Amino acid sequence: MNGLMLEKQLLISSLIAHADRHHGDTEIVSRRVEGDIHRYTYRDCHRRARQMANALTRLGVRASERVGTLAWNGYRHMELYYGISGMGAVMHTINPRLHVDQIVYIANHAQDQYIFFDLSFLPLIEAIADRCGSVKAFVAMTDREHMPKDAGIANLLCYEDLIDESSPGYTWPEFDENSACSLCYTSGTTGNPKGVLYSHRSLLLHTYAAALPDALNCSAKDVLLPVVPMFHVNAWGIPYVACMVGAKLVFPGPGLDGKSLYELIEAEQVTFAAGVPTVWQGLLNHVAQGDLTFSTFERTLIGGAACPSSMLRTFQETYGVDVVHAWGMTELSPIGTVGVMKARHRAMSPEDRYITQAKQGRAVFGVDMKIVDGLGDELAWDGVTAGDLLVRGPWIASDYFLNQGESPLLRDGAGRGWFPTGDVATIDTDGFMQITDRSKDVIKSGGEWISSIEIENIATSHPAIECAACIAARHPKWDERPLLLVVKRPGESLTADEVLTFLRGRIAKWWTPDAVVFIDALPIGATGKVLKNRLREAFQDYLLR
Ligand code: AMP
Repeated sequence: MNGLMLEKQLLISSLIAHADRHHGDTEIVSRRVEGDIHRYTYRDCHRRARQMANALTRLGVRASERVGTLAWNGYRHMELYYGISGMGAVMHTINPRLHVDQIVYIANHAQDQYIFFDLSFLPLIEAIADRCGSVKAFVAMTDREHMPKDAGIANLLCYEDLIDESSPGYTWPEFDENSACSLCYTSGTTGNPKGVLYSHRSLLLHTYAAALPDALNCSAKDVLLPVVPMFHVNAWGIPYVACMVGAKLVFPGPGLDGKSLYELIEAEQVTFAAGVPTVWQGLLNHVAQGDLTFSTFERTLIGGAACPSSMLRTFQETYGVDVVHAWGMTELSPIGTVGVMKARHRAMSPEDRYITQAKQGRAVFGVDMKIVDGLGDELAWDGVTAGDLLVRGPWIASDYFLNQGESPLLRDGAGRGWFPTGDVATIDTDGFMQITDRSKDVIKSGGEWISSIEIENIATSHPAIECAACIAARHPKWDERPLLLVVKRPGESLTADEVLTFLRGRIAKWWTPDAVVFIDALPIGATGKVLKNRLREAFQDYLLR
């Protein structure tokens, strides 16, 4: 027997329609590529998203076709999020930081019909235009006045012209909530990037879960600053959460340096911001150098890579900004776990609480997780035993877009599909998951595993260390031994012996790195993560020399 409930498909367009109707005056503020600050409201955004849907229809875009974007976080990108998905086409966010050949591969693989781009990416568009066979035209996300002159692109359209020529009279179509709404490619260290294809239903469910108090905890009282790019897993869902709860939204555009972020946080009274640790390091450096404080900034979501404990402490103890540490993946839309304390943690000593907070957190409702050994047998949740982390749930990928190879899913005894995250983790009795490594970054010394993340975490709590990466270096006796690569804070002096002395007593003796090497900077990839494979290429034979 079916329940007697009204049938209503879960569609992305309902989010912006809701924000318009119930929070129509709430602002969306953007730092623009043109240099100024732009502000308007959800009502304006909804109107222009409908105009864009009309424009796309006129351009011949049909349901399920892909429309690409190469753009920063800003209001025009937001209009595309809703205009493209809302009309039934697929919003394909492309990461402009990828290598140009990968961008060409992605645009061709997705068969993008149009690519919208911010002016800062004009040189990139000029470089790829002739190589993207499916693209009918490129659309510069600007007005007529700022349109590039003499651009070497055959089919170039102007975003504001498209809006001006289109009526806001558009009714969002109703269709199956399982239809695809957006596409984001994830690049592993080997092979071609793979497309994760989200559905309206999966993202709506993810949005409900993301907004929960023990997740992002967002409400209409908030001012949200997604620093995480809209080209990296939908800015972790914040453009959707903001509409669902009616929060003011602040977009940083290309200004991701500490000074620009600080100015925006203060001027717009931001309460919540989300980003990867490398971005926050820039903000913290700026604030420390200028002896500045925050007046409204309450909490920050840090994820994408492990949040160093030193960063946790600085945010909380020095600036009174609560840190929420979260873990996710492109394949998870992205939220998997969030590190929000439980009532019983209130009684913990601050030091113990920091240990728990440094973990990646507990699963949000909707995400089922387990750790398994090499045979696929489930391991204990004792906070010590580490195994391969598997997940499943309604916003977790079941396959990659147009995948020619095998399904990524693993089957358990009952034949249910689990997505193998490629992360190695422990889970404690409270359900807090802790990533100890990417499976390919784990250091296997004499058959035992050493957690590179834990060593890095401790090293970066040294006041003279800006950042550090621990990698597996080849060893004649133990196969692999840890090698610690360290970037000093500007003006600090530090020796390898001092680093090793600092680690002593804080990690098991046999985890002590065989060498400490000082380098100028860590290589950072397109999504803000340290490129350990590049470090391994350069340093894996260091101990054999
Ligand atoms: P991506 O799909 O690019 O978002 O990358 C997902 C991967 O980033 C995960 O599988 C983890 O290895 C890593 N990651 C994400 N969040 C965290 C975190 N809080 N701590 C450690 N690693 C993380």
